[in-house]
Amino acid sequence: MKFIFSSTMTAAFLAAAAMLSHATSDAQSRYDARFIDYPTYSGDDLELTVDNSGTHFRLWSPEAQDARVNIYDNGHTGSPSLVLTMHHDAATGTWTASVPEKLYGKFYTFQIKWNGEWKNETPGVWAKAVGVNGKRGAIIDLAKTDPEGWDNDKGPVVNNFSDVIVYEMHHRDMSMHPSSGIANKGKFLALTEAGTSSPLGEKTGIDHLKELGVTHVHILPSYDYNSVDETNLQDNTYNWGYDPQNYNSPEGSYSTNPSDPATRVKEMKKMVKALHDAGIGVIMDVVYNHTAENDGSNFELTAPGYYHRHWDDGRYSDASGCGNETASDLRQMQEYIINSTKYWADEYHIDGFRFDLMAIHDTETMNKVAQELKKINPSIFVYGEGWTAGDSPLAIEKRALKENVSKMDGIAVFSDDLRDAVKGHYTDAKDRGFATGKPGNEETVKIGIVAATPHPQVDYSKGNNSKFAYAKSPEMIVNYVSCHDDLTLTDKLRKSMEGEPEENMIDAAKLAQTIVFTSQGTPFMFAGEEIFRDKQGVHNSYKSPDSINAINWENKSKYRELFDYYKELIALRKAHPAFRMTSAEDIARHLVFDKIDSTKTPNLISYSLKDNANGDSWKEIKVVFNGASHPQTVTVPKGKWMIVAKDGKMAHDGSLGASAGGKMTLAPYSALILARQ
Ligand code: CA
Repeated sequence: MKFIFSSTMTAAFLAAAAMLSHATSDAQSRYDARFIDYPTYSGDDLELTVDNSGTHFRLWSPEAQDARVNIYDNGHTGSPSLVLTMHHDAATGTWTASVPEKLYGKFYTFQIKWNGEWKNETPGVWAKAVGVNGKRGAIIDLAKTDPEGWDNDKGPVVNNFSDVIVYEMHHRDMSMHPSSGIANKGKFLALTEAGTSSPLGEKTGIDHLKELGVTHVHILPSYDYNSVDETNLQDNTYNWGYDPQNYNSPEGSYSTNPSDPATRVKEMKKMVKALHDAGIGVIMDVVYNHTAENDGSNFELTAPGYYHRHWDDGRYSDASGCGNETASDLRQMQEYIINSTKYWADEYHIDGFRFDLMAIHDTETMNKVAQELKKINPSIFVYGEGWTAGDSPLAIEKRALKENVSKMDGIAVFSDDLRDAVKGHYTDAKDRGFATGKPGNEETVKIGIVAATPHPQVDYSKGNNSKFAYAKSPEMIVNYVSCHDDLTLTDKLRKSMEGEPEENMIDAAKLAQTIVFTSQGTPFMFAGEEIFRDKQGVHNSYKSPDSINAINWENKSKYRELFDYYKELIALRKAHPAFRMTSAEDIARHLVFDKIDSTKTPNLISYSLKDNANGDSWKEIKVVFNGASHPQTVTVPKGKWMIVAKDGKMAHDGSLGASAGGKMTLAPYSALILARQ
């Protein structure tokens, strides 16, 4: 999302909403209530199907007075070569038309008559292929878009979602910089290129991902979005893509030929296949919560008023902060979200979905999404932002909020608790956090460490963002310190630690990520942080040029030691299930904090993972974080400890030596990890 509101701000919205009693208990505003009894249609033949009897159209539009299909030879110019009159089926609210030919290679739009006037043309809401800029649907044979070996293609098997390690990336960020050595810059195909390297010989692209060891990439929006002109790619316009246009077709600017509808489909599948072959899963960022346009959106042009929410007076409500919000609490929209994600999972073998502003959707819809997706592939990981960016007519108790995650089995939410507590609040660039010397965040970091589950030693009343244990399982929490939103970790450290040497910032970066990757829950990182990537201090780079957004791969040589630390951190987590417990009960039993009075010794947290937690080969793991700008000392029980991390170095093979315990001093901004059999 191009801007983000913390759950604390959401809480303010919620309080305001409750006082104004906008949010009615039956969810719909008076304006939207009329849609509850609309006829809906659940068939899988919506909008376009091609079979041996011909080409068939079925548009859902209960209030239309008339409807037609325009057939074109071209994806974006010229007039229709054929216009089909559609026939109404009142029971299902659909309009149908057929021709006996297979119209492969042709394009189509729908048009409805509403309130006595023909509305603008639309490719509908189900176009699985589109012409350039997504204005017309394209009739293609999807079976011919599969890459070689697609029938046997499979993403990684995930037993527990705490095993997933997410790497969030934008197609252009990864490949546009000249130092990427990648030929298909900014394209889906960039991640299909093996053997690419920087001028200094460091691996880039997909080889870099393999070297780092992440399990999944989360790609920023890759459905067809509105902001980039696909007819003018030489302009090389950049956008994050949180402005959805066609939810079921890939974005054209990431393909090598946006004018050929099959190319983007083929190339996105090739990317998925290449990542799967490398053992890496693919998570799509999905933005069903709003559309780029209001009246001009495909939703409004097919079923006016239905898919978006409104206030009682008929104005669009705007919980997305982008002008509108969608109505998952209405049946046809709920099924749309479910069927669209199922389509991506089936057709593109997608391994996970990250829901933007998920709290705009209701918990019932999200539960159904997770249930249906897991029928297709139990390894599919579903998570989202458990907040909104404004008030909504949807009742608070129905929203898929962070605070409601325990009502959603099989779904995880981002923990802004750990994020803001570790590095300082996102709204104030100069604010420091636990890892950069600011006292008072210890209890909130502990909330992150136990993945917001109930724990006898965590006092939730002292939490900065959350006041109760909102997750009933660690598999409901995604821990992170930065993402595409807001300052990168590097920029945040540069602004908040201004005046300190860069080596202190690197130490703080290592400490911050050590907290993320050793915490319970699922760790998540933003692409390039492992090589100290910055965005020149730009916090909202959603349409900034590549010169701000692209990762400079020469950093990988300059910050090789930091990269090696990340790599080892990921390897440590993968090798040791104690960091990946699967139940709140296990965490409460095996994760024991050492007593530290944070009013006397702030910025110090110490805990043990005891008794071969989660089947770990290590009997006990001692984890200590010193976020202070000065050294701090802890007393470790006497014994035969292997040093895993100390003073900014990490290795889990014993190469850092041993310790007999006793008094041990941590360098400023550093983690100490010890293990014993
Ligand atoms: Ca587009």
